Amino acid sequence: MLNIVLFGPPGAGKGTQAHLLIKKYNLIHLSTGDLLRGEIAEETPLGMKAKSIMDRGDLVSDNIVIGMIATKLDNNPNVNGFIFDGFPRTVAQATALDNLLKEKETSISAMLSLKVNDNELIKRLIERGKKSGREDDKNKNIISNRINEYNDKTAPLKEFYSAQNKLSEIEGIGQVKDIALKLNAVIDRL
Ligand code: ADP
Repeated sequence: MLNIVLFGPPGAGKGTQAHLLIKKYNLIHLSTGDLLRGEIAEETPLGMKAKSIMDRGDLVSDNIVIGMIATKLDNNPNVNGFIFDGFPRTVAQATALDNLLKEKETSISAMLSLKVNDNELIKRLIERGKKSGREDDKNKNIISNRINEYNDKTAPLKEFYSAQNKLSEIEGIGQVKDIALKLNAVIDRL
């Protein structure tokens, strides 16, 4: 199986690149952000619990997102592989993911980390907020909080995957198609 962690701060372009990768390599896209927004749209109890946390730009609890991913892995047997987008975001989530994949006799193939500076991230997210309608894209303080959460809790995962020799860092500024080519090159070398 080809199991890719697509990594990077909010606004790095993970969703855009994930859509290109799933087509090219015939993978399943698992975005915890999209899954959570789906729960909110359907007004499920889980969605109701997550909404205020997400609107503030804080991280939802590990148990909630790990449970969602476990269900998705169980519901998609016999696939080519997965792109994990926005997950894992904490060391606890990364450890849980390793264990879930081990149960299925597979593992993470690579972490592809998109590098984008904070000024560019803020610019992109404010721009996206004009169309996305996402509460967490509308306000600069909330965007800063998301970037801080990333730096505090999520960025350390680069060490986690680097220790497993799985980390590749890719420049995330440039044309979408050029960044895609760089990601493809790393995957094709696996
Ligand atoms: P972005 O990466 O652009 O911030 P996402 O759609 O990935 O957007 O995430 C939006 C919000 O959903 C996060 O700010 C957080 O509140 C919640 N979320 C998504 N994935 C996770 C996760 N793995 N762990 C905790 N919270 C998450």
